[in-house]
Amino acid sequence: MKRNRVLVTGGAGFLGSHLCDRLIKDGNDVICLDNLFTGSKDNIRHLLGNPYFEFIRHDITQPVYIECDQIYNLACPASPKWYQKDPIYTFQTSVYGAMNCLGLAKRTGARVLQASTSEIYGDPDIHPQPESYWGNVNTIGIRSCYDEGKRAAETLFFDYHRKHDIEIKVMRIFNTYGPRMDTGDGRVVSNFIVQALKGDDITIYGNGEQTRSFCYVDDLIEGMVRLMNSRAGFTGPVNIGNPGEFSIRELADLIIELTGSKSGIINNPLPSDDPKQRKPLIDLARKELNWEPSVQLREGLVRTIAYFSELMV
Ligand code: NAD
Ligand code: UDP
Repeated sequence: MKRNRVLVTGGAGFLGSHLCDRLIKDGNDVICLDNLFTGSKDNIRHLLGNPYFEFIRHDITQPVYIECDQIYNLACPASPKWYQKDPIYTFQTSVYGAMNCLGLAKRTGARVLQASTSEIYGDPDIHPQPESYWGNVNTIGIRSCYDEGKRAAETLFFDYHRKHDIEIKVMRIFNTYGPRMDTGDGRVVSNFIVQALKGDDITIYGNGEQTRSFCYVDDLIEGMVRLMNSRAGFTGPVNIGNPGEFSIRELADLIIELTGSKSGIINNPLPSDDPKQRKPLIDLARKELNWEPSVQLREGLVRTIAYFSELMV
């Protein structure tokens, strides 16, 4: 059997480590590249003895010279807390990282998938968001390093595709959650679960009426693998997310109910440019990838709470 050699940048992160698991399970030869900026060896420790798994500690802002058939480019801090910590580096990671993956794809002929984001829609004034929407993004705010970096990366992907005939796949990922989220990275699902399990106050930013759509990690990875292996010529961009829409207040109430926590709720200031609403239209993913999510929020939260409960004993 010929094994595909697959490079996963950001492979020691939350999504990347689940992707590595899936690619190994499918019989691929996996190269996980990560500088461990937000990721951890703990996420891939169980794979380290496998002869078809390699870990390379490398910064994707620098070129990489390896041979591969497919590239998944996930390297980039994803939580506002981390991507705002060093915004210039975040921007460099998105832009130089995309160029280095595309350069590698040009030399090797590999297919390359970009982990883009719903953040490219900014604070959307069209709801729900179709792929044809160009977005409403502040160029100079505290989220811009991430949003504009990811937008520039999409531009590079399509220019390399047009100029050099690179086979590209662009995936716009909506909020995803599940086991291996980092307890301290500040994203809403991990924050609320950890607070509920510790009995600390749940910190809602603003009045909690802002909405998000939460996709369970297994559904997301299925969509990602289907997109990579989709028909030649299908580039996306394609939304992958769960169209169920919840206010942050509803999420807090659900997590309190599922953990049986006695935590109270406090309202902290809303960070600037925090999008008011977000929900994907997934008709394109249904049509092209025959994909739709199967794990609903309640069920996904039960699994995620079980993971954090075990981690925290
Ligand atoms: P994460 O922070 O857990 O993983 C990112 C990984 O990239 C980490 O392991 C980190 O160490 C690595 N990394 C960061 N900068 C790097 C660099 N310069 N060189 C090499 N490695 C580097 O985040 P995640 O949630 O797993 O997100 C993975 C990708 O998916 C990101 O590109 C993110 O923008 C995208 N995404 C995620 C979500 C989500 O809800 N999880 C939503 C939209 C888009
Ligand atoms: N949020 C919150 N309390 C927290 C963390 C986040 O109310 O402890 C809110 C945040 O302001 C945003 C939503 O939850 O409106 C989702 O935040 P997250 O950082 O997870 O993702 P993003 O804003 O990038 O969608």
